[in-house]
Amino acid sequence: MCGIVGYIGTRNCVPVILEGLRRLEYRGYDSAGIALVRDKEFFIQKKAGKVSNLAAALGEAEGTVFATLGMGHTRWATHGEPSDINAHPHWDQKKRIALVHNGIVENYQAIKTKLLRDGHTFLGATDTEVLAHLVGVMYDECRDLPTAVRLALSEVDGTYGLVVIAKDDPGRIVAARKGSPLLIGVGDGENFIASDASAIVEHTRKVVYLDDGEVADITTSGVRTMTIDDVTVEKPIHQVTLELSQIERGGYDHFMLKEIHEQPETILNAMRGRLLVEEGDVKLGGLQNIIGRLLSARRLILTACGTSWHAALVGEYMFEQIARIPTEVEYASEFRYRDPIVNIDDVVFLISQSGETADTLSALRDAKTKGATVLGIVNVVGSSIARESDGGVYAHAGPEIGVASTKAFTSQLTVLALITILLARVRGMSRERGQVLARELATLPDKVQTILKETEKIRKIAEEFKDAKNFLYLGRGANFPVALEGALKLKEISYIHAEGYPAAEMKHGPIALIDENMPVVFIVPKDGIYDKVVSNIQEVRARRGRIIAVANEDDTDIDELAEFVIRVPRTYGFFGPILNIIPLQLLAYYIAVARGTNVDQPRNLAKSVTVE
Ligand code: GLU
Repeated sequence: MCGIVGYIGTRNCVPVILEGLRRLEYRGYDSAGIALVRDKEFFIQKKAGKVSNLAAALGEAEGTVFATLGMGHTRWATHGEPSDINAHPHWDQKKRIALVHNGIVENYQAIKTKLLRDGHTFLGATDTEVLAHLVGVMYDECRDLPTAVRLALSEVDGTYGLVVIAKDDPGRIVAARKGSPLLIGVGDGENFIASDASAIVEHTRKVVYLDDGEVADITTSGVRTMTIDDVTVEKPIHQVTLELSQIERGGYDHFMLKEIHEQPETILNAMRGRLLVEEGDVKLGGLQNIIGRLLSARRLILTACGTSWHAALVGEYMFEQIARIPTEVEYASEFRYRDPIVNIDDVVFLISQSGETADTLSALRDAKTKGATVLGIVNVVGSSIARESDGGVYAHAGPEIGVASTKAFTSQLTVLALITILLARVRGMSRERGQVLARELATLPDKVQTILKETEKIRKIAEEFKDAKNFLYLGRGANFPVALEGALKLKEISYIHAEGYPAAEMKHGPIALIDENMPVVFIVPKDGIYDKVVSNIQEVRARRGRIIAVANEDDTDIDELAEFVIRVPRTYGFFGPILNIIPLQLLAYYIAVARGTNVDQPRNLAKSVTVE
């Protein structure tokens, strides 16, 4: 999920790699490391924290170490806390090869168990170290690095952008890709490897993009590309024309837009290796030890702030409707000061992107003192909430740079959906029903992709409403929190006043605001309460409010009722929020762009709220 840069050639690669890592810093990361080969020996340095820490640790060496083969990494922890030991590069058992990796090795536990039986010892807790050992085993057998990498990867499930070097073979660098981007920078008598072009464009603009399932054998004089099954692939060389700042944002104008578009991938990442479609079940390592307590829990409490609180509200619908467990949702800032009744048979979930949100962390400590089981749903591995919880599930959305949360929200919802299926199964839901839910959940990344095709239409709607003074967002059931989140996104980045409301509540107050100047966004999927929401739409129409509807693809009736319709595919009611929020994120984004606000760093807002 984070950054890679590698070099093979004739000049000293230390400054090339450090500068490349600095160029990748914009992605957000928690540790950094470098591996060089000199005189057939490794020189490895790795440090938790910033690239500047790594450079400081290299100290004198930065100026004096000379190596023509090396690689660097910025890590964004997914398995094992951010620490010097867990930072990449990792070695194999015999310290003959070194490896950096972006992504997740899903079956690392099974591989690790086998390697432990064969006498391997591991220094840290990452999935990547297991992969390094596996490549080492293969290298011992075949003594050929590209072959060793191919053989190892044929045993791996998961995602990787991978770079491997061997100290006794300093003439090559081997790279492989599946799911995590990787490209080769083609130079003159030198070659580069990077997870994105920003790390290397100052050296070359000629690049070869690796595709999934491909392995590259890179030397000073050339690049040989093959599939994991050793079929040679001829790759075209592309010319990078984008400017550096554009490359960092993946060609998008803002990080927020990039992150909105990453959601098919990040939702899939949240499910990867966890959703067992055939078994109709879910496997969550972070809940394994407390499953008994979840089974006997009398009540679940979800507590969070901001966007995560909206995710919690959706979680309440999921937990109660599917798993049939009484659930309460509370703002963490309220929970911590009202001396809530919390019992030892309660399970309290803390939801936070950063895992450092001050109010949520205090709520955790309070609930823990009262004897409840506390579980984190956080995005940042090794964060305070993750460390202080009895267990939990990571969102695996990757670093989120835009201050207004988008992909972390849909990953939180996906994790809540997984927990729901798990809870329902341990409490007696049939395998068949589990299969139906799991199958549907697995389709969501493709459905999000379909929604993203509506982007141009949404941009036009945004243009129409960019001068609005107020906005109302209305939804019912699990889409009421979507209305809240849609309104919050608009407020955060466009500074237009917006309110989210349960659609039926509108007539108890907000209806007074409706006139021909009031845009009203309805989330109106074809579910059991569709007709009720349509009645609410009629109430707004009667007062000349302007209606924007987020409705299902096959809903033909809605065209008569709404001025603008944004189409989303159908799904089960309680999964709907994962899809329905996407157009609202885009609407807020394009309205903000049209108004010329600072989308990625809106005024007065902080990404991680570490004050109460
Ligand atoms: N899963 C690996 C780890 O936790 C790689 C993380 C990354 O993509 O930076 O070390």
